[in-house]
Amino acid sequence: MISTKKIYHADSSDDFQDWQAELSAAVSDLDTLFTLLDLPKQAHSHTPKQFGLRVPHAFIKKMKKGDIHDPLLRQVLPDGRERMTVDGYSTDPLDENNHNPIKGLLHKYQSRVLLTVTGACAVHCRYCFRQHFDYHANQPSTHEMDEVMDYITKHTEVNEVILSGGDPLSLNNKRLKLWLDKITAIGHIRTVRLHTRLPVVLPNRVDHELIALIRHYQKNIVIVLHINHPNEIDDQLIAKTKQLKDAGATLLNQSVLLASINDDIQTLSKLNQDLFGAGILPYYLHILDKVQGAAHFDIDIHDAVGLYWQLLEALPGYLVPKLVQERPNHPFKTPIDIYQYSNKKMKLMIKNACNL
Ligand SMILES: *Cc1c(COP(=O)(O)O)cnc(C)c1O
Ligand code: SF4
Repeated sequence: MISTKKIYHADSSDDFQDWQAELSAAVSDLDTLFTLLDLPKQAHSHTPKQFGLRVPHAFIKKMKKGDIHDPLLRQVLPDGRERMTVDGYSTDPLDENNHNPIKGLLHKYQSRVLLTVTGACAVHCRYCFRQHFDYHANQPSTHEMDEVMDYITKHTEVNEVILSGGDPLSLNNKRLKLWLDKITAIGHIRTVRLHTRLPVVLPNRVDHELIALIRHYQKNIVIVLHINHPNEIDDQLIAKTKQLKDAGATLLNQSVLLASINDDIQTLSKLNQDLFGAGILPYYLHILDKVQGAAHFDIDIHDAVGLYWQLLEALPGYLVPKLVQERPNHPFKTPIDIYQYSNKKMKLMIKNACNL
């Protein structure tokens, strides 16, 4: 009985003093997760030591109780299939180790650099392409921050700095401010971008201090959220995105196309319309990176293009994210050629349209 009571208290995010307490109370054992979701315990569940289960209570609350197939649960629930090695799926699918001139800095694309400012994430997404990345070796210390800044200062072709990770919003506001102060002080930097899932999985992270911080800077602040399913968007998130927008941030979203989670036209079209309702514009729809342990989330490229085609038909252009794939050593995220991968029916439609 005592443990049930404890779980009940932890379940209500209002009980937490602040977002950091909520973050450290994230669920990391299957028994607690299943109890919270009214699911029967599983005898042969798989919990890896590295990159184990991690999910904040606020995200669990968005899941449907009693449903093992819930699309939010599937994104975080460890699965025995992760242990299979599948041809073509590797631990460094993007060959990032080759574009790592100094610790914590990736310079793959001409005008922007990506900084891995922390290895920590509030949630462990099972399909994450960075799950094998050596964050420890790649997190700049305060001293190494200066090396990063020197690099950016010398590279005047860079006008945008992306804070990534891990999740940059898992840093506390003080640390985040330190990064933002240094980056925005560089004259040729016009935009700072944050790639984050924290407002989605732990909306309380967007606190007054963070809002004030975003409001403070004169330079463009772009926040790219990571939302894969419309059930991730609720009133609490909408209240937070509104505050972020009011503070002057531009909000975009990237999703990953995931088997049995969002690979149907109803889900995708609702997702992109609901994003707009929350003041967020769709940016990218990623074909899954071929990372070891995630093959069961992958979908056939022809099916992906078939879905995308339906999305183009169903939605206005501004609600259709770009369908892209990251290919090692390409100078940008590669747009998928929807004609190359069309099926016969689509080819026929194109032919007929051209004959009109
Ligand atoms: C995705 C990514 C970027 C940003 O690419 P955009 O197309 O500008 O969104 C920059 N650097 C790295 C290493 C990336 O993976
Ligand atoms: S939040 Fe992003 S970086 Fe963190 S585990 Fe999920 S996909 Fe990976």
